[in-house]
Amino acid sequence: MKKNIRDYDLNNKRVLIRCDFNVPMKNGEITDDNRIVTSLPTIKYALDNNAKIILFSHLGRVKEEADLAKNDLRPVATRLSELLGKEVKFVPVTRGEELETTVANMNNGDIVLVQNTRYEDLDGKKESKNDEELAKYWASLGDLFINDAFGTLHRAHASNSGLASNLPSGVGLLVEKELKELSRLDNPEKPFVLILGGSKVADKIGVIENLVTKADYILIGGGMAFTFLKAKGINTAKSVIDEENLEFAKKMIDMYPDKIILPIDVNAFEEFNNDANNRYVAITELNENEMGLDIGPNTIEKFTEILKDAKIVFWNGPLGVYEFEKCTTGSKKILETLVNYGVTTILGGGDIVAAAGDLGYKEKVTHASTGGGATLEYMEGKELPGLSCIPESN
Ligand code: AMP
Repeated sequence: MKKNIRDYDLNNKRVLIRCDFNVPMKNGEITDDNRIVTSLPTIKYALDNNAKIILFSHLGRVKEEADLAKNDLRPVATRLSELLGKEVKFVPVTRGEELETTVANMNNGDIVLVQNTRYEDLDGKKESKNDEELAKYWASLGDLFINDAFGTLHRAHASNSGLASNLPSGVGLLVEKELKELSRLDNPEKPFVLILGGSKVADKIGVIENLVTKADYILIGGGMAFTFLKAKGINTAKSVIDEENLEFAKKMIDMYPDKIILPIDVNAFEEFNNDANNRYVAITELNENEMGLDIGPNTIEKFTEILKDAKIVFWNGPLGVYEFEKCTTGSKKILETLVNYGVTTILGGGDIVAAAGDLGYKEKVTHASTGGGATLEYMEGKELPGLSCIPESN
């Protein structure tokens, strides 16, 4: 197990905490503060333990001058301050006298949020390339480093790996919780079922390769199912196809014919539009002008038969175009099955978590992971660079 915030005495210490405040913004307003809310337990723990708290986070991408203003972290300081009922002092720069003086004048229990770490990317991608001088400079502001940004663990940046390499370090309470939940899948109880949806096959190849031998079944829905169906020789008409990964799909079907379960019927539309003509149809009966945008009732029944006996499920990617009102049924019914049958369910990857949130199931499943790429790379069995430089606890 990795060292965590509870393994350190925080009293009177300057504690640098890397959070993931990469929140969606529109015209300078935060449209969803979930990532700020999930960071609160670690910040409150540091407050309760009398630390001086210096927070870092990235926001969006900074490639040119024009990206600076729209990725200013100040609104996060305001929201965080409201949530904590306490002043969060915002420092609008990532280095220099203002930052150093602010930190030097902190009292125990003070909270400072430093400007978007990616402002440093404007000058030779210093944050994203884990520049050594930058990491050492930021480390000089603290006594201890806590990484609570689960969503960026799959990156080696100055504000995570760099800081961890230059200070005594540990993980925060959010990262600890994520790792604990995801570790259920290291040696999963059986039957273990993988559910995959969404549109891009490429993103899920690593997960399939890593888990295909462990999983009892892989249920495939969403747009990616059509690449597998086409690989089986079925006419997929206007449905989305990932041509580059047809060969991979064919190989998997040939190797694991009884394990990979594909849709047998779909909700077919004449246009990629919620209001277009639609009908439920057997997978072999698609007209040339139709595309499948959700799984159909017979597929839901087939998936349910398997899922009601499952002990644990990992699910990435919605089973239909959940953004369209008429295409939420597949994801909704399967979420309902998992909750009703008490199956341990881990949702990972942005879109299925967003869909579960919209459909009212996010709080009902066992765990909805906050990381997109980080969760997938964990499931691919890859080492996470933001984690590997944090020492193990004794
Ligand atoms: P991904 O990023 O690969 O997980 O894909 C997520 C996206 O897949 C969502 O925006 C869904 O709207 C989309 N999606 C799900 N099912 C389908 C489908 N049958 N056809 C096209 N897109 C789909």
